[in-house]
Amino acid sequence: MFGRAPKRGDNSKYYEILGVPKSASQDDLKKAYRKAAIKNHPDKGGDPEKFKELAQAYEVLSDPEKREIYDQYGEDALKEGMGAGGGTHDPFDIFQSFFGGSSFGASSSSRGRRQRRGEDVVHPLKVSLEDLYNGTSKKLSLSRNVICSKCKGKGTKSGASMKCAGCRGSGMKVTIRQLGMGMIQQMQHPCNECKGTGETISEKDRCPQCKGEKVVQEKKVLKVVVEKGMQNSQKITFPGEADEAPDTITGDIVFVVQQKDHPKFKRKGDDLFVEHTLSLAEALCGFQFVLTHLDNRQLLIKSNPGEVVKPDQFKAINDEGMPIHGRPFMKGKLYIHFTVDFPEALTQEQVKALEPVLPPRSTSALTDMEVDECEETTLHDVDIEEEMRRKQAQAQEAYEEDDDAYGAAQSVRCAQQ
Ligand SMILES: [Zn+2]
Ligand SMILES: [Zn+2]
Repeated sequence: MFGRAPKRGDNSKYYEILGVPKSASQDDLKKAYRKAAIKNHPDKGGDPEKFKELAQAYEVLSDPEKREIYDQYGEDALKEGMGAGGGTHDPFDIFQSFFGGSSFGASSSSRGRRQRRGEDVVHPLKVSLEDLYNGTSKKLSLSRNVICSKCKGKGTKSGASMKCAGCRGSGMKVTIRQLGMGMIQQMQHPCNECKGTGETISEKDRCPQCKGEKVVQEKKVLKVVVEKGMQNSQKITFPGEADEAPDTITGDIVFVVQQKDHPKFKRKGDDLFVEHTLSLAEALCGFQFVLTHLDNRQLLIKSNPGEVVKPDQFKAINDEGMPIHGRPFMKGKLYIHFTVDFPEALTQEQVKALEPVLPPRSTSALTDMEVDECEETTLHDVDIEEEMRRKQAQAQEAYEEDDDAYGAAQSVRCAQQ
């Protein structure tokens, strides 16, 4: 069975754990495991280690093949022989397969009536960036169905309910349609007589409070706490606050944060982005300006002396981004994206005044003779994005034409040449 003969190891430990002799029958093993597992179950304050050991011992000894290996070669041989996929199982699974329930509570309740789960009610919650930065709470009034208190959800005065005659209590009706040629179509739909509930309530026996509907509407005010730094589409859940219905586990009310756009700040995760335009003088000679933050603090933002800001440059301020959800004292970064507003044109005087103070020209001056040898050109203004879009459209058209031509019109084309 094994590539090499394993050395004989200890082969009595599992029997000792279960407290049975080596000659124990399958029945003895079962009884011993049952008794010890109940006593040592962690749900009853037992030692989890001991519980695990019991499961392991029982798993091996209850399997005749594994028991034989264990008896001959001991525990180590089993570990080798079982390979990677044959490790021991979850002790709770073993317990469950034995008793039909993972814990004592569940094993008794799972035999009870199975309840369906009611639907969650999801509401979008529009929140401004200021509110996500500072945190806020909103009171929201919602109306929901609750089980009628008078009839306790039965819908009747007497508490009795009658099976719907239309669907025999199933709540569903099946209609069969002949499609001809021996084919039929079966369609299932909710019973119209009982609206899919499977019950009818006689006029006289209807509960006066809910008029037989089993539920009544109730207004409820929920206080929704928007915590600092919550993200777009983050959920705020009120468990079990959705519509109640008989024999149903009430679903949750879920608010989904929808961050409103902000005119000044854009958010990416925990960081904030703001646009700022500098005049050319500011970009070259320095700037300072005041930025009002989302909590109305006034931030003074200024360049370092002698620093030049280039168009499209980003700069960042640490810890002035969004608060990090759950750790509101930590914040992301605030990025500033600079645009530089260049003048459209300069007068001759301005050029004369500027040139001497600017860094020298990169190209050396051309001689008149060199200029004479060149061809004159004219520079036009272009909207480069528009140009590229047009070129792409042209390329696409040409490609499609090519595609049509290939095959059907190919011979025609050859003939024309
Ligand atoms: Zn019905
Ligand atoms: Zn009622």
